[in-house]
Amino acid sequence: MKRMLSLLFPPRCVICDELLENDHSIFCERCEMIYLAATHAPCIACGQKLPRCNCSTEKLRDFHVKKLFKLFRYVREERNEAEHSTNHIIHLMKEKRDVLCRDFLAQELAASIRHSLPDAFENPDYVLTFAPRSRSRKLEYGFDQSQYLGKRIAKLLSIRCSATLIRRKNTGVQKKKEREARFENMKDAYCVKRNLSLHGKRVLLVDDVTTTGASLGNAAKQLYNAGAKEVIGVTIAVCE
Ligand SMILES: [Zn+2]
Ligand SMILES: [Zn+2]
Repeated sequence: MKRMLSLLFPPRCVICDELLENDHSIFCERCEMIYLAATHAPCIACGQKLPRCNCSTEKLRDFHVKKLFKLFRYVREERNEAEHSTNHIIHLMKEKRDVLCRDFLAQELAASIRHSLPDAFENPDYVLTFAPRSRSRKLEYGFDQSQYLGKRIAKLLSIRCSATLIRRKNTGVQKKKEREARFENMKDAYCVKRNLSLHGKRVLLVDDVTTTGASLGNAAKQLYNAGAKEVIGVTIAVCE
């Protein structure tokens, strides 16, 4: 069956659409090199490759999020082909129904968590949750990318995935707003489900892309209010 499908729909590179000889990777050789270069970029704080470090951002530390897992950097204004390719991965992850890209990114994040936080694996003290997409965007695209990533990562780590947060209001398209306005805008964007207790739990919080930290930070605040012992950020890309 799988063979027949691959004859009918031969695998193609998710970034440039080039035909692939096999389905061992979602990228062609060239795009794979670009992806590897993006994930091999060193963290400016600790010097480790980004997926191997869990340094947080200054803004997120204000929200007591001291660890942040990420794969690569996000840039608002693309300056070259490499940045265009990594931004395209984000676009696929957010907007394409096809799960190939999301599955791949979930595997990458689970691997980096297992590497830097081996304690989380199969540990019932950890719970994984996600910052939900707005209702209108979920209806528009037919899925919630952070929820999808969250479920996959939790499965790979053998921990529980729990939908703890509710998106309270429609915050519009975040990326178009100015930095300060975004914090104000996201302030009451999430609340936790009624009667939810996260007492003593370490919570891995997935938010697909972290730009200002407004979304992840405000979601973390709600989780701390619900008793979380620690909130750890998990994101595909971070804008520094
Ligand atoms: Zn390619
Ligand atoms: Zn670091």
